Amino acid sequence: MKCPKCHSTLSRKNGHRRGKQCYQCCDCGRQFVEHPISRSYSREVRQLCLKMYLNGMSLRGIERVTEIHHTTIIHWIREAELKLSDLP
Ligand SMILES: [Zn+2]
Repeated sequence: MKCPKCHSTLSRKNGHRRGKQCYQCCDCGRQFVEHPISRSYSREVRQLCLKMYLNGMSLRGIERVTEIHHTTIIHWIREAELKLSDLP
């Protein structure tokens, strides 16, 4: 498990909350859960997916690597295409 604050991989189990495994970072003390409820992805993750798509990877392939559902990736591609079509 990776700490969302300092990205340390040193964490210990810290009980359960609403059926999810909780962890505490050994480096900064931040508490976090196994799978965050938020389904939003960072800008970096989006760009990585778009980059893989532009390099010819299939949506299913990207889905297997990133574990992000392919319909989410299609949505990002559409968004990116819309932005590109705005350019002169
Ligand atoms: Zn930490």
